Parts: sequence; C-alpha cells; structure tokens
Amino acid sequence: MSLPKRPKSAAERKARVIRILSALNERYPGATCALHHNNAWQLLVATILSAQCTDERVNKVTPGLFRKYPAIEDFAAASQQELARDIHSTGFFNNKAKSIIGAARTILNDFHGEIPRDLEALLRVPGAARKTANVVLGTAFGIASGVVVDTHVTRISRRLDLTRESSPVKIERDLMKALPRENWILFSHQIIHFGREICIARKPKCPICPMTGFCYSEDRVPV
Ligand code: SF4
Repeated sequence: MSLPKRPKSAAERKARVIRILSALNERYPGATCALHHNNAWQLLVATILSAQCTDERVNKVTPGLFRKYPAIEDFAAASQQELARDIHSTGFFNNKAKSIIGAARTILNDFHGEIPRDLEALLRVPGAARKTANVVLGTAFGIASGVVVDTHVTRISRRLDLTRESSPVKIERDLMKALPRENWILFSHQIIHFGREICIARKPKCPICPMTGFCYSEDRVPV
C-alpha cells in the first residue's frame, strides 16, 4: 500500500489541515459534548466524574446525583463519605468526591457562586485541571480557551500528524498552533466521535475513513 505524501511546505500543511477540518465538519457537523448537563456547574461535576470513566456511566449517575444535590450549596455541604458512595460506580470516588466538594466551596467562597469564565481563574477550582477547564469554558460558555486533549484527541492528532508529542500539554500547544481558533471547541468533540466510530485505537476502520486521501499514519490498515 502506498501512503499519501507528507506535506512539504507550510502552505501544503495548512491546506491539509483544512481538508481534515472539512472532513470532520461533513461527517460530524453538530458534534457536542456527550456528558448530559443543564448548566456549567453540572458540566463541571460531570467532567470531574468522567476521569477514567465512560461518558455513558457518568450519564447514568448524574441524573440521580443532581436530584439529590440540586444546587452548588448542596454539594458544598455534602459529606465526603456519602458523596463518594453516591458516585461510587464512576471509580476513584474518594478523590472525585473531595474534588467536587472542594470545587463547590471554592466557587461559593471565591467566585460568588458563579463558575469563572476565564482559564486562569477556573484552574484555581479543585478538580478543574486544564482539560476539564477547557471542556467547561468551551461547551458551557462557548469560550475557546484551548483544545480539549483526551485519549482520542491524543491518538488521532498523532495519527494525522498534527503533533508528534505525547504529553497533553504539548499536544494542546501544537493543536492551538495548527488549528484556527474558531475550530478549537468543535474539533475535540468531532475527534472524540471520530475516535469512537472510525479511527479507533486498535484496527482503525481506514477503508471507510474520510481521511484516507491524506492520512499517512503508520497505523493505517490497507484500504
Ligand atoms: Fe485513522 Fe485510518 Fe483514518 Fe488514518 S485513515 S485517520 S489511521 S482511520
């Protein structure tokens, strides 16, 4: 199998990025966050719960959780032990319960009960590392603070040669350079769908992939 040629010039690289984005837009035009939520606080909680857990599992837990703790104040006043039991099935429940209660108290005490809308401030909230903060700012507020880098974005950005890095911080930095800012939010949602459906970790479905014309990844399977 002969692979498509690598772009040589900056102009060719830019044109290739546009083809990647067009393919994603065509296939996943309305991609959005899979975590169910009604407001920014609920999205923050759901994102904390989603660490090392599937979105499907989180979506099973959150409806009951938000019925039991309807407001940020309810989480701030929760017993860590009891909250850990409530979120047990999402894994790492002690750490997650501690983060959620800490986040609720910080938002009430330091931010007048409002989720901060800038990255630096949001990073001060317990449980809101860079990926979580980017999810909340992008999905809840439409603020393109960065690019969400999860396991799908990591794998596929490398396969598509948008980065050669392996640490999320460096991958995000490369993606912020490679992609137009207006694509930062949608790109991650689209890649997560693409990673679940086509460019899966083992045996990617290259024969049905819309990127075959310009993907020269060594992970490619013959078309
Ligand atoms: Fe992934 Fe294969 Fe598509 Fe390349 S051609 S992006 S490896 S599914």
